Amino acid sequence: MATATTTATIDSRSATATATAKQAAPEKEQRPQLPPRSKRWWPVSNPRPTQAIFDLVLLGAFIAWQRSSTAHNFYSSLAARYSVFDINAYGAFGITTLVYWAVAGLFAIVDLTHWPDIVFRYKVQPFEKVTIKEYAKIAKVAAKNQLFVVGPLLAGQAYLAPYPVEASAVPGSWATLGYIAASIAAIEVGFYYVHKTMHNPRLYARYHKQHHEFTAPVGLAATYCGVVEHLTSNLAPNAIAMALLRPHWSVATFTFCFLEISTVCAHSGYNLPWARSSLRHDYHHFKFDVNYGPIGVLDAIHRTDTSYRAALSDALARAKGDAGRARSELLSRLAAWENGAREDEPAATKKVGPVGRGDSGSDSD
Ligand SMILES: [Zn+2]
Ligand SMILES: [Zn+2]
Repeated sequence: MATATTTATIDSRSATATATAKQAAPEKEQRPQLPPRSKRWWPVSNPRPTQAIFDLVLLGAFIAWQRSSTAHNFYSSLAARYSVFDINAYGAFGITTLVYWAVAGLFAIVDLTHWPDIVFRYKVQPFEKVTIKEYAKIAKVAAKNQLFVVGPLLAGQAYLAPYPVEASAVPGSWATLGYIAASIAAIEVGFYYVHKTMHNPRLYARYHKQHHEFTAPVGLAATYCGVVEHLTSNLAPNAIAMALLRPHWSVATFTFCFLEISTVCAHSGYNLPWARSSLRHDYHHFKFDVNYGPIGVLDAIHRTDTSYRAALSDALARAKGDAGRARSELLSRLAAWENGAREDEPAATKKVGPVGRGDSGSDSD
């Protein structure tokens, strides 16, 4: 009873204070009432913590494998049977190619069949369909990049600066995580600056426009780009970091696969609750001049994610601080924008460069 009276008193005081505040600053009432920044930045502008599950499971499984005697025996037998060059070049090429096509292939099945529904319902831009003919076109470019860019790069690295292959060179768990973290940092820096440079109007049409052909990309389209772009922005940052650090070939190969899976997820168009969100990069493909980096650290520093964060904050205000609902709302708006643009724009101007949707599409619906 006493609690109820106290609560009633507090409510009445706060109602009076609110009424006074309304009279004192009526213009503030027009603005959305956002929760404190400390409470909204992480959950809204980044994926939910559960979306780290897939990455953590992958890392945990690799660390566990590396610590096992089975792994050490496997590496010993490989080193006894094949040359250092063969393991570094053919081994790494075979594994990374298989992983890329397997992961992109799983997303392709859902894209083309809309099955299983439990996955397809998380498609960010469900109105934008990539046909099987377009898929074939993407596959051709992805295969070309693998054969003529990844292949020679791995062969060159295997010839000039091969990674150690003996089981005795397998690093400990913390060192392994350090190598992977260094690679992620290198990709964040290298990809951000090269990618942003390619959005310069003088370079865009020649080097990057092809990658933006699909405003609602699919997983396989992660490497739908020209040779120069694939080498400089997608591969070089990690290749340089690994060449300098020279970890065991298994760590370098896993890191390559980990980055491949990340970029396929980023282009997949699916915002799965337990895997890496595609929302950030999907927004880049839709808006062109925001979200250049893979993680978002440099976008935050250089303020190149302003419209993305504004859209998320606006959605959060409308959802009264509920981050889950805010994300859903933004996903719906992104899909609605895409759908509206499709209806409004002639097909000839639809798939255009940075002066297209990015400039004409405002953030205000
Ligand atoms: Zn992309
Ligand atoms: Zn771009």
